Amino acid sequence: MRLEKCYFCSSTIYPGHGIQFVRNDCKIFRFCRSKCHKAFKKKKNPRKARWTKAFRKAAGKDLTVDPSLEFEKRRNVPVKYNRVLWKKTVEAIKRIEEIKIKRQNQFIKNRLKKGKELRKEADIRDVEKNIHLIKSPAARAKKLEKKLVQVIQEEDDDNMEEN
Ligand SMILES: [Zn+2]
Repeated sequence: MRLEKCYFCSSTIYPGHGIQFVRNDCKIFRFCRSKCHKAFKKKKNPRKARWTKAFRKAAGKDLTVDPSLEFEKRRNVPVKYNRVLWKKTVEAIKRIEEIKIKRQNQFIKNRLKKGKELRKEADIRDVEKNIHLIKSPAARAKKLEKKLVQVIQEEDDDNMEEN
């Protein structure tokens, strides 16, 4: 079973699916579905269509440098499977898929985490800037008092330790 990649959207093409176009210089363009084929005929740039892998990679939405992507790169020599090895190969493909998804999820998580942190920082800054809106002057005075008390206490503690 040979799985090809769609020229336009880079999704996997399973046997019996899609269409292929052979240009007069022998270059083969494979398409997973008519949507991709039509886009190609309209000379659309895959990097500009938001739903393609090319766009996602170019826009930093997807993992681009990862050893797990190396697994499924096409080698120059077509792999011929014998029946005994075939089952193992299928299992290996599944495993690769799992690893890839895992890494992808991790990547997405990390990306979201950064956004979260940034948002939190922005929120904190916002609050600090506009603290006068939430707290009444009286409350602020109280807090100041509390702080003073704390400082005095700490000084006392220090003195105690010295004694
Ligand atoms: Zn496609």
